Amino acid sequence: MNEPKEKSRWSSTAIIGGIGKVIDFGALGLGTLMRSEGGQLVPGVSRAEPIEGDLQLPAQVDVVVIGGGNIGVMTALNLAERGVRVCLCEKGVIAGEASGRSLGFIDSLFMDPAKAELIIRAKQQWPEMNARVDAETGYRQTGVAAFMQNEAVLEGAQQWLEAVKEMPGVEARILSPSEAEKLAPGRWDRLVGALYEPTDALAEPRLFAPAVARAARKLGAIVVQNCAVRGVETSAGNISAVITEKGRIGCQAVVLAGGAWSPFMARSLGLDIPQFMAFSSVARVAQTSGPATGLVSTDGNYVVRPNLEGGYDICRPIAATPLTPSVLKNLNRLRPAYEQMADQLKPVFNLSTFLAEWRIPRKWPLDQPSPFERNRVLMPETMPAMLADTLGAISRNLPDIGQAQITEQWAGVLTSTLDNMPVISAVTERPGLYLGTGFYFGLTMAPAAGEALADLAMGNSPKIDLSLYRYSRFHDGSPIRFRG
Ligand SMILES: Cc1cc2nc3c(=O)[nH]c(=O)nc-3n(C[C@H](O)[C@H](O)[C@H](O)COP(=O)(O)OP(=O)(O)OC[C@H]3O[C@@H](n4cnc5c(N)ncnc54)[C@H](O)[C@@H]3O)c2cc1C
Repeated sequence: MNEPKEKSRWSSTAIIGGIGKVIDFGALGLGTLMRSEGGQLVPGVSRAEPIEGDLQLPAQVDVVVIGGGNIGVMTALNLAERGVRVCLCEKGVIAGEASGRSLGFIDSLFMDPAKAELIIRAKQQWPEMNARVDAETGYRQTGVAAFMQNEAVLEGAQQWLEAVKEMPGVEARILSPSEAEKLAPGRWDRLVGALYEPTDALAEPRLFAPAVARAARKLGAIVVQNCAVRGVETSAGNISAVITEKGRIGCQAVVLAGGAWSPFMARSLGLDIPQFMAFSSVARVAQTSGPATGLVSTDGNYVVRPNLEGGYDICRPIAATPLTPSVLKNLNRLRPAYEQMADQLKPVFNLSTFLAEWRIPRKWPLDQPSPFERNRVLMPETMPAMLADTLGAISRNLPDIGQAQITEQWAGVLTSTLDNMPVISAVTERPGLYLGTGFYFGLTMAPAAGEALADLAMGNSPKIDLSLYRYSRFHDGSPIRFRG
């Protein structure tokens, strides 16, 4: 995805008119395609705390990790802790993309039971994180509560609780309206209760991945920023090296944790990861009074996180999903995901974003700049109108937060796969390659995902069952079931 130089002056409706003739947009609704707010990529700036990295590439390591987001850094930390020689290559800076832009929830409310083992394993590791990396990651076990003003939603919460309550690590319960009000005093009309998980938590995305990368370095990991991996070399069919913009690194295993970029690296290796992007916006408001817990309002359709500075980060759980060539190519396969996430995903068409993906070749020579070097920090435009609307909704329940001054706004790229399950997997067709990609809740899951990827790369048995996360599910005829 090359950085667009300027906002497109082309009318997106003209393009859509042409494409719409050959594709059935039934599930999306042609009207939605006329929207373009939130679909534009803009020159990216990291908001993560900068870290000092290594300048010299090693000649040889055991494992190369591609990507310095939450998943890549946790993989590198796990490997370094076990004495494995690991080099992490990040094309921009640590947590420059999704990982430095998330809302900061470590959250299990309404998780699909299929994801429980991974999420619970991650949540077991989170409380030790600050001590493990000897730094502030912002982790606070504040609990997370979903406030409900609607009987039907309460009924759904009760059903969910019934399905998960026997699982180890689940302590969720329904709070009465008066219990809920104590957690978040405010103006709550017709509150019917709150679904509350006291073991859920919050972290600071600006701090987490940088702190983990620093800790991994202290244990001997080599972390090279501004170093895109262009491709891999194989020997007798096995991965034997990566070629980066700064040179070659010999290795036996590669973990691809490239976030939104993973499908393009995978495609250059003859693999197909059916993953799509969703652009979401967050606002930070100045210090004010409000709940100490992470709060989701199901009726107000907003999410509120108290941050370390005494202010709040807020967003609406709605994202703009750009229609790009890979989305259009996979439209039939993606349809169930779009339908299931229809209340969260708003398809948008932006010509420059469409063309930016269109221009990414299927393959490139490894001795010349690759697409990864052309965009160091992938960043979409923010959606100020949606954020203003969200603050309006918050004002009705929590006026101090809703009326507080906005101090920062940002947007980031979420990724999902066809079934909304990440890929944590070896690749039979490419011995030595491991995939850690397609995370929609990649802050919550990072500790367990990094542990599992380290196990895979070392040839150890993972601590959790990874069968639902295997890459081959997309291609071996398995029924694909969407998981919320
Ligand atoms: C607005 C927003 C709110 C969110 N809120 C939450 C939340 O509350 N809770 C939660 O659990 N999750 C949340 N998420 C999701 C979470 O942030 C992501 O799932 C997670 O950050 C994904 O991490 P990652 O390491 O897979 O990807 P990324 O953070 O995108 O990292 C991938 C990295 O790989 C690098 N890279 C790619 N290709 C190459 C290459 N060839 N060579 C070198 N480097 C490369 C990229 O530059 C990038 O830095 C949110 C996301 C957004 C955008």
